[in-house]
Amino acid sequence: MSDTPNSRRVRHPGKSRIVGPARQADGTTTTAYRAVAPHVCGQCGAEIAPDALFSRHARPQMAYYSTGLSRVPMCVRCRPLQVEGEG
Ligand SMILES: [Zn+2]
Repeated sequence: MSDTPNSRRVRHPGKSRIVGPARQADGTTTTAYRAVAPHVCGQCGAEIAPDALFSRHARPQMAYYSTGLSRVPMCVRCRPLQVEGEG
């Protein structure tokens, strides 16, 4: 009984993948992600299309009742990114 269909487990939903460290407009470093499925920017509401870069940031209006770890995707128009090694 080693070949049960239920043995396949989905570990990640696969909506995004980590690209690596990226520099932001203010000179700080964050983690850049590349969308695999469409996302919605938590700041301006624009769609982050598949294959587009984005980063994740705390949503300010959530801060007072979240546990501090609630982060939303933000598009590169709101949060410009300069990925190391990408032109
Ligand atoms: Zn945006």
